[in-house]
Amino acid sequence: MSRVYNFSAGPAVLPEEVLREAAADMLDYKGCGMSVMEMSHRSKMFDDIIKTAESDIRDLMGIPDNYKVLFLQGGASQQFAAVPMNMMKNKKAGYVITGQWAKKAYQEAKLYGEAVELASSADETFSYIPDCSDLPITDDMDYVYICENNTIYGTKFKTLPNTKGKILVSDVSSCFLSEPVDVSKYGVIYGGVQKNVGPAGMVISIIREDLIPEECLPGTPTMLKWKTQADNDSLYNTPPCWTIYICGLVFKWLKNNGGLEGMKKLNEEKAAVLYNFLDNSKLFKGTVRKEDRSLMNVPFITGNDELDAKFVAESKAAGFENLKGHRTVGGMRASIYNAMPKEGVEKLVTFMEDFEKANS
Ligand SMILES: *Cc1c(COP(=O)(O)O)cnc(C)c1O
Repeated sequence: MSRVYNFSAGPAVLPEEVLREAAADMLDYKGCGMSVMEMSHRSKMFDDIIKTAESDIRDLMGIPDNYKVLFLQGGASQQFAAVPMNMMKNKKAGYVITGQWAKKAYQEAKLYGEAVELASSADETFSYIPDCSDLPITDDMDYVYICENNTIYGTKFKTLPNTKGKILVSDVSSCFLSEPVDVSKYGVIYGGVQKNVGPAGMVISIIREDLIPEECLPGTPTMLKWKTQADNDSLYNTPPCWTIYICGLVFKWLKNNGGLEGMKKLNEEKAAVLYNFLDNSKLFKGTVRKEDRSLMNVPFITGNDELDAKFVAESKAAGFENLKGHRTVGGMRASIYNAMPKEGVEKLVTFMEDFEKANS
């Protein structure tokens, strides 16, 4: 068996210890004679799995008691619709457009009400985070929406926007559990888990209880009403059992590896290795304004499409997978999530140094 260094943006690398543990549990989970995939979601065994997962993510993030943690299907994209359906009482909300995921959420919200573009970095291919200290937020807006880490473009909000008292909704899909957060600053935090947490198939939504409405917009499907899910502890119907189980193992792994403080330190070290190289390279360059750089997704280019393609092909042959940039922007992107070991980033940089020597 040999494992590659997987720089995929998602689904993405998982901790090897977690995969080994899941493999060991595969045929017989804790003596029950079946795998987690085969057991009833109403069983005592699964009840322990989902309750432990919830209590561990609450510990990790310091989630206050007045927030619900929902394990939902449909991915982050499903929440693009669920957010307005549950929150647009005045049918108006403000969106900060920092990339394709923010834009998709904004366009989805337009199906249900007035979505207002508060700021955008489209003018420079989303290579920076716009100034959000004095956004044109109006009193009738139900919430202010951001995509906190922009997976495709490699930018991250280092300070949260001034929402002028409005509720902040944040998509944290690609920075979920990568560093400590103050949950109380948000009304809703949600993320698809397949980037930095677990396997595909689930979004975790952390929602302040008073924002879970009795009534949603007319026509909201039962499954998309947060109240349905909250009242049933995410067990209204069959939940993504296997994904919940693996995420639970990842939460334990995070707790055993310094929690979110420990991850932040490690992620900063890893990102510094790559950014320092990019800042000093004569061939490669980062594409993001320095102060807005993501710790998780690092896009870079040579400035020559043919050389980019050559780099992607040669890096793949050398055991560095998925370094090709998003299909809409080209170039390269290294996603260096929690489970990417520092050694993987160091080896990538050595490979880039050699490539630079051979091609200049
Ligand atoms: C990947 C991604 C999404 C979409 O996630 P799905 O779970 O595939 O719907 C949304 N937002 C961000 C920031 C992402 O990185």
